[in-house]
Amino acid sequence: MIFSIYLLIFIFGLIIGSFLNVVIFRLETEKSIFFARSECPKCGAVLKCNDLIPVLSFLIQKGKCRYCSKKISWQYPVVEIITALLFLFVILSQQTKNLYLLDPSLTFRMTFYLIIICFLIIIFVYDLRHYIIPDKIVFPAIIIGLAYRLIYISEIGSYILSAFIPAIFFLSLILISKGKWMGLGDVKLAFLMGLILGWPNILIAFLIAFFSGAIVGIFLILFGKKGFKSQIPFGPFLSGATILVMFFGSKLFYWFEALLFL
Ligand SMILES: [Zn+2]
Repeated sequence: MIFSIYLLIFIFGLIIGSFLNVVIFRLETEKSIFFARSECPKCGAVLKCNDLIPVLSFLIQKGKCRYCSKKISWQYPVVEIITALLFLFVILSQQTKNLYLLDPSLTFRMTFYLIIICFLIIIFVYDLRHYIIPDKIVFPAIIIGLAYRLIYISEIGSYILSAFIPAIFFLSLILISKGKWMGLGDVKLAFLMGLILGWPNILIAFLIAFFSGAIVGIFLILFGKKGFKSQIPFGPFLSGATILVMFFGSKLFYWFEALLFL
């Protein structure tokens, strides 16, 4: 019984992931997110229901459009599967023995996590592909984060500080580097991260983002994919680190503490 619930959550995640792909594509083309039929990005053929089954359509059609036979991006199935796995992870990480007896505050927190993860996935993919964090995504996410924190008003001060301090720090880095190290999108994302993670988790997320960004950057330069002066988008590292810390914040904190005081 419990297995079938997890399967349902996974399928729900796949469908939401498919929707996130649509949002990413429509942000690129400036089309309405809700009121347009899905079409093939290459030939413009309007897609039917059986072309739109997450992952399965991609596998059955061997990664090609049924109408023009051009390749479909790997982004589509990958985003669908990652979203489904993260949705499953949110539910599992809350460690409820009986999913039917969820208490309201837990359900509320899980819903918040699921929504925020959707925003972070969009930011991850969009910044990776276009080197931009769209305002249309990061501002609604900040508003949702603020609204969520307003409900638990007693703790809001610490979260607001965790949002403002890194945002100001990033802004000063932009001023020092004249916009070469990061963009304004990263400042807004840092603010969002503070609202989601709070102190000290925000610091752990930044450490992970900076280190993983540096390591990936070095590898890209070593393998000749990038030069020393070329840009690497920082948003994917920030949003990836945020998701990681959302799940493993306290564990990671103890690791870092142990590392620092060895
Ligand atoms: Zn096509």
